[in-house]
Amino acid sequence: MGRIGILDESTYNKIAAGEVVERPASVVKELVENSMDAGASAVSVEIKNGGISFIRVVDNGSGMDEDDARLAFERHATSKIKTLDDLYSIRTLGFRGEALTSIAAVSKVELNTRTRENTRGSRIEIHGGKVIDIRPAGCPAGTSITVRELFYNTPARYKFLKKDATEAGHVSDIMNRFALARPDISFKLVNNGVTVLHTPGNSDLKSAIFSVYGSEAARNIAEIDYSDKFIKVWGYAGKPELAKASRNYQSVFVNGRYVKSRLVFSAIDTAYETALMKNRYAFVVLHMELNPMLVDVNVHPTKIEIKFSEEQEIFKSLYHAIVSALQQADGIRQIEIGGGKKDAFRFSGAGSRSSDHVQGAFPPAALRLPERDGSRSAPVEDPCGSPGMAGRPVPGGSRSTGFKEGGHGLDELKASPEEEATGRVSEKQDEDYRAGGAFSAKKIVGQVFSTYIILEGEGELILVDQHAAHERIVFERLKKKFHEKTELSQALLSPPVIRLTDIEIKLLQEEKDFFNSLGFDYEDFGNNSIILRAVPYECALEESGELFLDVLGRVLSAGIRDENRVKVAEDAFYQMACKSAVKANKRLSGDEIKALLEQLDSLDYPFTCPHGRPVAIRFSKNDLERMFKRKL
Ligand code: ADP
Ligand code: MG
Repeated sequence: MGRIGILDESTYNKIAAGEVVERPASVVKELVENSMDAGASAVSVEIKNGGISFIRVVDNGSGMDEDDARLAFERHATSKIKTLDDLYSIRTLGFRGEALTSIAAVSKVELNTRTRENTRGSRIEIHGGKVIDIRPAGCPAGTSITVRELFYNTPARYKFLKKDATEAGHVSDIMNRFALARPDISFKLVNNGVTVLHTPGNSDLKSAIFSVYGSEAARNIAEIDYSDKFIKVWGYAGKPELAKASRNYQSVFVNGRYVKSRLVFSAIDTAYETALMKNRYAFVVLHMELNPMLVDVNVHPTKIEIKFSEEQEIFKSLYHAIVSALQQADGIRQIEIGGGKKDAFRFSGAGSRSSDHVQGAFPPAALRLPERDGSRSAPVEDPCGSPGMAGRPVPGGSRSTGFKEGGHGLDELKASPEEEATGRVSEKQDEDYRAGGAFSAKKIVGQVFSTYIILEGEGELILVDQHAAHERIVFERLKKKFHEKTELSQALLSPPVIRLTDIEIKLLQEEKDFFNSLGFDYEDFGNNSIILRAVPYECALEESGELFLDVLGRVLSAGIRDENRVKVAEDAFYQMACKSAVKANKRLSGDEIKALLEQLDSLDYPFTCPHGRPVAIRFSKNDLERMFKRKL
């Protein structure tokens, strides 16, 4: 007896469905992509029981006439490509022509659709791939597809579905992505009768971010806007205080399509490297537009991992795009206690959320935080060994100089669970920190604990961590000289001779130019040793030999390749900054404080130390008044 048989069509369709339809979220994805391909400007999705019992996607797109509506459910029916050539220039989202077939094979589908030209629409009902009913129907222009009882005829698949809430979560993730991918389309998601997402579709990405992530995110992002001959990059980069413990808040879109790319992630990480603590991931919504030829399209349509050619160029562009966005934004962290009146700015395009004021109470915010956020109450580890901070600043920084519009002054501080913060963020609009000397223009009140500098500005009190500040200064200066290729070394009067291993010697010989660019100069001294002639000028001279060995060790363990030179150099600069910065517990004279503040003001990014700790924390006069119960 022959062992090979031909599957009947219905069995084949059910198996093939497994490829496209894994869970309710994949149905939603396919249906919404079809709506977008159909030119819809509004797409509304309703689910019940996580989408297992009910999914309805309604759009105002092109709709289908009756013939097309029938055909749409045939395998390999697609209006999107006709030849192989089309495949390479494809710009639409679907193209294999099997989503509808696959979905219909494993559920009960009802389609209502009408084109604008036709006065009459069509209704088709299909159960488990079999057409049950086709008839004319009165319906609005556009398409509505209802999918009921997913996997009712494939119990094996049904079994793999998770709890309703989990499935609903996946649907919500997908919808959020669409919302961020296409701010020009209004998306709505209703889960068990409750609207959980509704974007305005006003083409403003910031509005979409507000709808998806709430006001805290919308207030603490800086606009990315960059282009060069390879690529156009736009979107928003979250300030460091929005950073999360996972990459879930990094959304990347290439030519409108949601993707994951190691290259992009590493560019993001590198751009934020000195602004974030370890194991924190920046909040980023990033759109990239580039020639599709530079993107490897030869991937499975349901996969989202992609590859680029011209990786180096793309990496550099992304890095610059993000870094310059961050440099635009003011990053002094600000603390406000209790619910004062908000400034009048409202975020455009989205309703404000009801405010749930955290009442100001003693002890003050900075001290109160740990109790609200127990996991963080331990002192923050300082990689440089200066004393840790008791507590931490409220996430949420303040200014909006880098923002296009008044996206601040929103009501509630919507903190993510892991960032669960107290207090609220207040705004100050009248002063341009970037231009006006954020630090040096303030009155110096003094220094406490030989560690913090106290400043008074208009209606606010600012604390500056002197060590973090100095570290950032040294780091930025070295980095700037490195990138500008200006001289950053100082000759040593009594150059030390240093004995090294074979591998170290070899590295120093091969990479002499690189070490020169870091500010080190040396010559072979024979017998496995070198004589160290010069070190970066920010270094304390007495520590130069030690510093050199430190950097050498790091470079050796990182391994130099063309693509990581900048990173390795910056890493070396951290080391140097850390070593040579004024330590906490040092009394500074008035002049020293002044010089420090002036130097801070001269930096592009003065707001965190290179390890991501804040340089300054701000209390408004209001905060203090509330703490003392002068005001409620
Ligand atoms: P694909 O999207 O790969 O072409 P699908 O099975 O998802 O395949 O859809 C088949 C065809 O049905 C599409 O090519 C399109 O012509 C039509 N179609 C599906 N959904 C819609 C919709 N919401 N509005 C208009 N046409 C649609
Ligand atoms: Mg499709």
